Amino acid sequence: MDQHNPNLQTLEQIRELTAQFEERAEAVDVGGPGNALLEKNVRALAATGFYGARIPVEYGGLGLDSETNAECQELIASACGVTAFTQQQLHSGGHYVGQSANVDVKRDLLPKFSRGEVLCGIAFSHLRRPGPPLVRVERIADGVLVNGEAPWVTGWRFLDSFSLGAVAPDGRIVYVYVSIPDHAKTLSVSEPIRVSTMDAGDTVRVFLRNVVIPEKYVLFEREPDFQTRADFNNIAGPVHLPLGCARGCARHLRLTGQQRKRPLFVEAADHFEAEVDLVRDLARSWSGDRAAEPEYKERALAARAGAIRLAMRASEACIAANSGAAHLLTNPAQRRHREASFYATVAQTPDIQATFIEAVTYGK
Ligand SMILES: Cc1cc2nc3c(=O)[nH]c(=O)nc-3n(C[C@H](O)[C@H](O)[C@H](O)COP(=O)(O)OP(=O)(O)OC[C@H]3O[C@@H](n4cnc5c(N)ncnc54)[C@H](O)[C@@H]3O)c2cc1C
Repeated sequence: MDQHNPNLQTLEQIRELTAQFEERAEAVDVGGPGNALLEKNVRALAATGFYGARIPVEYGGLGLDSETNAECQELIASACGVTAFTQQQLHSGGHYVGQSANVDVKRDLLPKFSRGEVLCGIAFSHLRRPGPPLVRVERIADGVLVNGEAPWVTGWRFLDSFSLGAVAPDGRIVYVYVSIPDHAKTLSVSEPIRVSTMDAGDTVRVFLRNVVIPEKYVLFEREPDFQTRADFNNIAGPVHLPLGCARGCARHLRLTGQQRKRPLFVEAADHFEAEVDLVRDLARSWSGDRAAEPEYKERALAARAGAIRLAMRASEACIAANSGAAHLLTNPAQRRHREASFYATVAQTPDIQATFIEAVTYGK
């Protein structure tokens, strides 16, 4: 192995960690909120510098290429869904700070994210909701004032900060960086939201009452349709967690087939693995840089819905292969089945929702 190639070095570290994550995945899954094992996984990734995966080297990050990063995401998701989702939120939080025009803020924060010293979550999915904005922002002297409720923020127990999307009175979208200890009096949170999958993720609803964000932490401001356009350019982007889930299901099927001498299971594993490669290629070839092409939307949606369907189908095969034991809460097939269902809703837009429902309804 080339010790100086960060791509190869990180892949190797993630492979090793993935094996450990898979061993404790059921314990994490059933452990619920406040789960020390999830925090152990999250911090183990931090210790490798992985939260700097896509942060440029000049800001202390690893600057991994997109294919290596995607493979790491798939590997983690193939082992433990809640670890994969939680760590992904930490990359997203850092990504928004990376878009700040304030070089001093980036010089201060990005190396801390990369070293895993500051864990930064994300709260932005509410920007997709129609109707009055859930989180509002207005200009004040030397900064902005934020009010409202962010319905979902994952990893709360170990977050130091989060990037937050809010809407200005003129409809423009403003992203701010919220350092949690700085706002003890104006930030409050719900109890962890109990969910059937990713329950260990310590996802909370965050209430913001007159939160004053200093100017340096106003990351950027964009036109009102920013989120819609960003989603359009990234239709086939969020495929790696469902593809990882399908890979984990295939691995489980193969092992079960070998242990029980059931070649059918092994053949199914071969089939799902081949299909993962096909869907990944489709998603890669319909990335946002082709958004102006007439067939872009249809093809990219097919890739995204295809990845979710694949994870669900592979997990259904795992359920059947495990017979009645599949329904034990501690069974890996059971966990993977619930993880697969999660990917049908995450980063959901009306187009993705419709494409997926049509696919499962009409077998498209
Ligand atoms: C366990 C868990 C953890 C999560 N963690 C995070 C996190 O850390 N950070 C974060 O930002 N998000 C997080 N999410 C949010 C997740 O990404 C969302 O589930 C996803 O974006 C869908 O949003 P929603 O469920 O709030 O649904 P909605 O936003 O209500 O709906 C989804 C889509 O349907 C459309 N829609 C809704 N209502 C209508 C309507 N009446 N008419 C037409 N279209 C409509 C919306 O425009 C949107 O595109 C989390 C979710 C879960 C379940």
